[in-house]
Amino acid sequence: MQTKVAGQPCPDCNELMIQGKNGGGYCKPCYIKWKNQTKDQPKPAKPAQQDVDWDKIARGKVKHAFAVESFKMKMALDQATKDRINQWTDFVMQEELPTIQTEEQVETSEIPF
Ligand SMILES: [Zn+2]
Repeated sequence: MQTKVAGQPCPDCNELMIQGKNGGGYCKPCYIKWKNQTKDQPKPAKPAQQDVDWDKIARGKVKHAFAVESFKMKMALDQATKDRINQWTDFVMQEELPTIQTEEQVETSEIPF
């Protein structure tokens, strides 16, 4: 990389460079170009996480818990067991979270995580 000195022409566009904050020279057109470039560049996306259905994952975890319990209870692998697991899963997933009032003191020792 070439050293940029204020007062000298820019090695990239020949525009006279001006004094920058850190003592070194910089060229305004190139700086603006660089600035716009970085601004326009899309942030590196995480494609694998873009369309993750967290509700489905959460439901799957709840369902799994009931499936394990059903297994322990030696419940038959039939539609009735399937329906039952689904009913329990619905019951858990539809449960409304309690609303915490801001003026309420939250007992942090009760929080299991
Ligand atoms: Zn330049």
